[in-house]
Amino acid sequence: ATGLTLVATPIGHLGDLSPRALAALREADAVLCEDSRVTGALLARHGVSVTLIPLHEHNEDAQTPRVLARLAAGQRVALVSDAGTPLVSDPGYRLVRAAIAAGLHVTAVPGPNAAVTALTLSGLPPHPFLFHGFLPAKGAARAAEIGRLRAAERAGLRATLIFYEAPHRLGEMLEALAEGLGADRPAAVARELTKRFEEVRRASLAELAEWYGREAARGEVVVVVGPAPEEAAPEEELEARLRAALAAGMS
Ligand code: SAM
Repeated sequence: ATGLTLVATPIGHLGDLSPRALAALREADAVLCEDSRVTGALLARHGVSVTLIPLHEHNEDAQTPRVLARLAAGQRVALVSDAGTPLVSDPGYRLVRAAIAAGLHVTAVPGPNAAVTALTLSGLPPHPFLFHGFLPAKGAARAAEIGRLRAAERAGLRATLIFYEAPHRLGEMLEALAEGLGADRPAAVARELTKRFEEVRRASLAELAEWYGREAARGEVVVVVGPAPEEAAPEEELEARLRAALAAGMS
């Protein structure tokens, strides 16, 4: 189809590139990608040769009008990222928003995504879930962000939380989560998904922080944290519930 197609690519295992993804890339007039070496290698494996156009955080605003012009001229443009689903902690949102605003056709070839794969393997409640992506890298900003999540939980949010993290920061990040959300919270670290050394470690935040504090993680990781436990209802709320129960019993 003409228009913009968001194409998911593997997060590790090359066999996860779907036939439809491959067809969309083969038929594209141009493929927008983060790193043309990464996408070039993927396409070369499948004997596809197509124009690659870099699209990343720093040039997305500049590229957007050029891409819109291609789309308006009836071209087929595909968007991929280095791994997984475009836009998910990856470039593309600004382009997609602009294409929608311009009334252009936007579609997707769904496929691999590290967050959802980790969620399904975590053994934690699959929904509701809140995908956070990366926390800030610096300690103070990270603690503040975790504090905002905790405040939302105090206000009633009960969701499984999903974070991306760089392996060299995993230990300190888990430490900050244990401190901000609770040491006993059940959690999971999913590492190297779909790859040879895939591993999911399920334990409390404190235990995981200790484990990865001792031994730096290698490879790519997703952190999944179980929902906050129900908190004891404040007295007023209890009283209201009691009254409602009594009223229901009397009618
Ligand atoms: N767009 C991608 C997706 O759909 O999952 C995510 C891109 S984001 C820049 C990269 C982060 O995703 C990594 O730092 C890691 O947290 C996570 N990730 C990607 N591939 C992974 C894998 N095979 N195993 C575990 N985590 C992975």
